[in-house]
Amino acid sequence: MSEDPRRTIPRTDTLLAAPPFVAAAERLGRGAVRAAITSAQQQAREGSIAPADVADVALGRLPHRASSLTPVINATGVVVHTNIGRAPLSPSAIEAVVDAAGYVDVEMDLGTGARSRRGAGALAALLEAVPDAGGALAVNNGAAALVLATTALAAGREVVVSRGEMVEIGDGFRLPDLIASTGARLREVGTTNRTHLRDYADAIGPETGCVLKVHPSNFRVDGFVSSVGLEELDGLTRPDGSAVPVVADIGSGLLAPDPLLPDEPDAATWLRAGATIVTASGDKLLGGPQAGLVLGDAEVVERLRRHPLQRALRVDKLTLAALEATLRGPLPPVTAALHATADELLPRVEALAAAVGREVVAVDGRVGGGGAPGVPLPGWAVEVPVDAVPLLRRPDGDLPVVLARVDRGRGLVDLRCIPADRDADVEVALRAALGHNDTASPDDGGSGERPPSS
Ligand SMILES: *Cc1c(COP(=O)(O)O)cnc(C)c1O
Repeated sequence: MSEDPRRTIPRTDTLLAAPPFVAAAERLGRGAVRAAITSAQQQAREGSIAPADVADVALGRLPHRASSLTPVINATGVVVHTNIGRAPLSPSAIEAVVDAAGYVDVEMDLGTGARSRRGAGALAALLEAVPDAGGALAVNNGAAALVLATTALAAGREVVVSRGEMVEIGDGFRLPDLIASTGARLREVGTTNRTHLRDYADAIGPETGCVLKVHPSNFRVDGFVSSVGLEELDGLTRPDGSAVPVVADIGSGLLAPDPLLPDEPDAATWLRAGATIVTASGDKLLGGPQAGLVLGDAEVVERLRRHPLQRALRVDKLTLAALEATLRGPLPPVTAALHATADELLPRVEALAAAVGREVVAVDGRVGGGGAPGVPLPGWAVEVPVDAVPLLRRPDGDLPVVLARVDRGRGLVDLRCIPADRDADVEVALRAALGHNDTASPDDGGSGERPPSS
């Protein structure tokens, strides 16, 4: 008569003390590890697994990462993709985030030990990047910057805005609703396609808090259109002769003009043209962390900074660290992806296509993130069967997660937004998704043909 196998189930304390579980507990916490062990022990008690397999089953059940957020390789060709976190941070920004993750002098002068202005380094970097701005402020995101500006300048009063600029940003999120939430009243002027200076002038009165100019970043109106430039708006005054501040929402976060995107507004140009302040996102074309930037007239920026709402919208030390490093460091990945030419991309795409036995096709990448809607970014993709696209997105085991796109019945793997040193990871993922035999030897023309990594 044999012993009850359940008596050989390893004890929780024994497993928790074993090196792989100790290492896992350091990463994931003891609670998660204990839960995985308990559930494997339960399976063994029920007889669905052997007691000898409890440790392996528990280890296999542990998540790979402490966070459930899964890193994704962006093979969509869409540079600023909101659903996968917009801008990837540059290596120097990532380093700055890691350094700032502990205790850090975010609000202290280490020389005197006294309290200092929060995030002064990031704000100084912004002012250096945009010398036309007298003051700078960073808040949680572009929408927060707009809410803060309209609240501080126009709560209980009117915000004058053209009907051609009443945009929906995305995810059903509408500018008029955002402004209504601040307690300011929206005073719409002009029509969808045409607004003139006299429309603004007629609407301005003692109740005017500010004029708002919004870059309609995610669509274009062509044809019989007319809008009023900042140069003209700059001169508008209330009946008592006081100047009306002009808040300009540029959205994309370009600080200076980019010749590749001639229709995309930038902070320097719009301030010079007469905007009192501009608001923008940090994680679109600036290529930094999620943030809302306010740049412009020092006195108006100071009014925003002192408004009680600012305290509720302020950014954390990780954001400040990433923002400063993005502004001071080398060009961020978003800028590299945006400016990668078809000629530069071709050898990499050809090498990948040859390695996995697929065709190269011409494709247009996109700026995305509600920016530069009409601008194609010519490049190339490896064409794959549509069936492979979900497999790339949800691979078996530890393979990298690759987000490809589907266009007119084809799966497309676009390398534009992928750093060249990740091409090998894309190849591994593609080989698995295409069902290639990964045990093939390198000299059979399979995995031997690696693209050069730079
Ligand atoms: C993206 C965008 C916003 C919103 O910015 P978030 O950083 O996403 O909050 C506001 N206005 C315009 C014109 C935009 O393009």
